Amino acid sequence: MSLVTCLGFPRIGLKRELKRALEAHWQGDTPAEALLDAARALRARHWQLARDAGADVVPCNDFSLYDHVLDTAVLFDAIPGRYRPVFAESRLDGYFAMARGHKRGGHDLHALEMTKWFDTNYHYLVPELHAGQRFALAGDKPLAEFREARALGHRARPVLLGPVSFLLLSKTVDGSDRLALLDALLPAYAELLRKLAEAGADWVQLDEPCLALDQDAEDHAAYRRAYATLAEAGGPKILLASYFGALGDNLALVADLPAAGLHVDLARAPQQLDAVLDALPDGRVLSAGVVDGRNVWRSRPGRTLPLLRKARARLGDARLWLAPSCSLLHVPIDLEAETALDPARRAGMAFARQKIEELRVYADALGGQAEAEAALQAQQALLDRQAQQAGVRNPAVRARLHELSPQMTLRRSPYATRRTAQAEALALPPLPTTTIGSFPQTDELRKARAAHRGGKLDDATYGQRLEAEIERVVRFQEEIGLDVLVHGEPERNDMVEYFGEQLDGYLFTRLGWVQSYGSRCVKPPVIWGDVARPAPMTVRWSTFAQSLTDKPMKGMLTGPVTMLQWSFVRDDLPRETVCRQIALALRDEVHDLEAVGIKVIQIDEPALREGLPLRRADWPGYLAWAVESFRIAAGGVRDATQIHTHMCYSEFNDIIEAVAAMDADVISIETSRSRMELLDAFVRFRYPNGIGPGVYDIHSPRVPAQEEMLALLHKALHVLQPGQLWINPDCGLKTRGWPETEAALRSMLACARQLRAEL
Ligand code: GLN
Ligand code: ZN
Repeated sequence: MSLVTCLGFPRIGLKRELKRALEAHWQGDTPAEALLDAARALRARHWQLARDAGADVVPCNDFSLYDHVLDTAVLFDAIPGRYRPVFAESRLDGYFAMARGHKRGGHDLHALEMTKWFDTNYHYLVPELHAGQRFALAGDKPLAEFREARALGHRARPVLLGPVSFLLLSKTVDGSDRLALLDALLPAYAELLRKLAEAGADWVQLDEPCLALDQDAEDHAAYRRAYATLAEAGGPKILLASYFGALGDNLALVADLPAAGLHVDLARAPQQLDAVLDALPDGRVLSAGVVDGRNVWRSRPGRTLPLLRKARARLGDARLWLAPSCSLLHVPIDLEAETALDPARRAGMAFARQKIEELRVYADALGGQAEAEAALQAQQALLDRQAQQAGVRNPAVRARLHELSPQMTLRRSPYATRRTAQAEALALPPLPTTTIGSFPQTDELRKARAAHRGGKLDDATYGQRLEAEIERVVRFQEEIGLDVLVHGEPERNDMVEYFGEQLDGYLFTRLGWVQSYGSRCVKPPVIWGDVARPAPMTVRWSTFAQSLTDKPMKGMLTGPVTMLQWSFVRDDLPRETVCRQIALALRDEVHDLEAVGIKVIQIDEPALREGLPLRRADWPGYLAWAVESFRIAAGGVRDATQIHTHMCYSEFNDIIEAVAAMDADVISIETSRSRMELLDAFVRFRYPNGIGPGVYDIHSPRVPAQEEMLALLHKALHVLQPGQLWINPDCGLKTRGWPETEAALRSMLACARQLRAEL
């Protein structure tokens, strides 16, 4: 019978046990042993869980105390010199110093840079390498975890990040070629593979997720060199794992590499099966990633079973393994824990455990078990019935989408005309000042929100608390002299959740945690039905805030792309359709805000860039509907109504045309950490609309010196028209405390006054 396997399992624990253990250790409350015990207990529990769910082979070394890319760097001794003294004291402290920085015992080290793992919301630590870098096998984590799994009676497959992806995901501090380090790295990998074989591993999984990206001839040469060497290393049989998309033009290369097995993603790219089967050399194993590791939906047997039958007909049972499409790191652990979910919704969902259970049923059905076949038929019938349930299709939403015309993506006049109308309506001084939306979320606010949720604080009292907070924020902004005010977003726990909770078509889980980085997790909302807005979402707060002041009050919304990007999205509609539905709901909110007299409305799109597809060829298609969605949300308002947008963590060079096509009247962007370099793209493009390049970094409690901000603003004024420039911080202030917020904003306004005098 075909084996059921798994590329990786969530690490954090159902109740975020790893988070608790890590944070207790970091605070110095518990010794290292307590943390390591907790980690070992989680591994044991997760192996057993996967096994009980029906996995024949469980992954090991997929666990990490912080991040698997960091693990790989440390394993092969790619430790930058500045951390070595901490490593000399304690390897665990050294590891966490690389992950989170280290300020103790005379050390003051910043952490490695963090960036997104492909197109997921998981962040990895970027290894720092340099020309002439040496590598050595400097640890035994993969071996130890393999032995640990075996001692518990499991058949385990060690997981390693492959050498080429490891290098491609790293950066060199001296700008030298990363792949030039391959020959230095391979002996360390080879030694590890030998040791794994000696320890009894029959297979090893080498992840090369970069195979889902555009790879050039040099990259291809690196894969060839790497796998020629590793296949000869005397290690276990190699399962080369690709995921997050189709192999595409990398397929011929991959089929040619001397690996004993190949894992492919057939959830995102089912269409590649025929080509893969044709290319797969005789004798190779195919690990078929048929169950979606990136989403929370049950698979559709009507689609999945034919794929598997086809593969089995060509390969036979022994050469076909069943697996999720990628590591299950990106989904929550166990749907069983979601006792409060509507059973009708729950029936269509699957978390990590349920995904392995599904694979078991598929394997049994392929093996001819009638019961399993019946179960799959029942699953498909259930999904078909679910598709008919109320809310999945909302006729009003469908009708609106159907009538969507290019007209709806337009403002009434071009920017130049709007600019004049807005100048008249808003009467702002030159170099207007504003903030990005949120003000510090105090402990009292968080407590009040929790009490309100728990039913311990009634709506009226909670509302009064929020109004009191809004009043405080408004008075403060007036007192320090900001020009365009905000209400401070005290009613929001999270910029997506707040809106999702008020929209039809969204649901929220209780324990649906997914690791974002280290001990940090997010609980993404789930979009299951057509998105519609039953009632206004922000009008109450914006109206109240505007009633307190004569200055313009900025309405504050989360944009359609960000609402989509930070949620689990239904898989029965194209993402672009769901995005347009959200855009229509937001459009209604924009119009309602305008109708009650809100003259400035900001639609945040911090996730626009991270939605970019992995392959360049797919960028234009994505950008077209992403921009269109923003324009639907902002379209149709009066010329005098000023639309802002905000983006952070972005690099703009290669998306500037799309950003310009959004045609927001004002865009605020994060620039202070890059010393305004991110502005270059706008300057080169001759971006005509208003821009607020952030003048100070809100991610740090440090209050910037006035001269620093002035220098940045002078830089900006040098390249922008004075009439274009806005003055604002980099991002929202919700994670900051009041004292530093007050000091920094006062200082920012002093800069504005000085610059105005210079104009
Ligand atoms: N308006 C949001 C805030 O100020 C924007 C947050 C973000 O860009 N991530 O908090
Ligand atoms: Zn931001």
